[in-house]
Formats: sequence, C-alpha cells, structure tokens
Amino acid sequence: MTGTITFTMIKPSAFSAGYTGNILAKIEAAGYKIKAMKKISLSKEQAGHFYEMHKERPFYEELTNFMSSGPIVAAILEKENAVESFRKFIGATDPAKADEGTIRKLYGKNLSENAVHGSDSDESAQREAGFFFSFLEMV
Ligand code: ATP
Ligand code: MG
Repeated sequence: MTGTITFTMIKPSAFSAGYTGNILAKIEAAGYKIKAMKKISLSKEQAGHFYEMHKERPFYEELTNFMSSGPIVAAILEKENAVESFRKFIGATDPAKADEGTIRKLYGKNLSENAVHGSDSDESAQREAGFFFSFLEMV
C-alpha cells in the first residue's frame, strides 16, 4: 500500500559502533513494524547504484566510500504516513542540526556518518525496498 512503507538503513558507522539494537528498539517503540530486514555489505559499485541520484554531487565519492566501508542493516518499515513521519523521527541530515531525541542526534557523528537513511518519497521507498529485497522477502 502506497504511503505505508519506508525504507531505512543503519549505516556502517552506527552498525560498527554497536548501535543497531538501540536504534531498532527506538524504531519499534515509535510504532514502526519491521516488514523485512537484513544485514549486508555493499560494494562501492552497489552503493553507487543505490545513490545514483547524487552522482553529480560533490559528496558522492565520500558517500559511496562510506556506505561500502562495512556492513549495514537494511529494513522495510510499515506505519501510516511512513516516509514523512520517519524522516521527522530520524532528524535533519546533519546530526548537529537534528532535534533532540532524534536518531541522528543520538547516534550520528557528522553529515556523512549520520547513523541512518530514510526514504524521501513513496516512489523512493518502493525503489529502495526493491533494490534490497525480493517480493518473497517483503510479504
Ligand atoms: P538519506 O538519503 O541518507 O536518508 P537525506 O535524505 O537526509 O539522507 P540526502 O541529501 O539524500 O540526505 O543525502 C544522502 C546522504 O549523503 C546523507 O544522508 C549524508 O550521509 C550524505 N551527505 C549529504 N550531504 C552531504 C555533504 N554535504 N557532505 C557529505 N555527505 C553528505
Ligand atoms: Mg536522501
């Protein structure tokens, strides 16, 4: 159902720091249901494909190096108005500008190592979910 799912990743810095359990606990406590989830390591090429909309941006190289630097946890989350509410829940892209209590404020280090990803639209959520999970893994 459009509007009810979003896609998230626990990024390499947060995973390696051991924040996965805490982050997932907060996500569940906020009412998101985990529809699909996996730990996976992306190659630089795969990270580049996932973030291809940012190819021309100056931070693309840094972003794809970082996202392929270690394991991540990818998940599809279900909740009413999932995309918009989850972006509010995780906070601003730059952890220094994120509101108190948000995931990025609590677990992000800097603009690049900002703990988690959240889809920016329903279309992105569908694309990103399909990038990581097969039909059978999503039901
Ligand atoms: P995400 O897509 O990870 O949920 P976002 O939608 O808040 O984050 P985007 O503009 O889509 O932000 O940027 C994607 C990611 O690229 C950011 O999460 C951040 O890690 C990184 N990024 C964005 N801007 C910069 C920058 N100026 N310098 C370094 N990294 C950046
Ligand atoms: Mg984005």
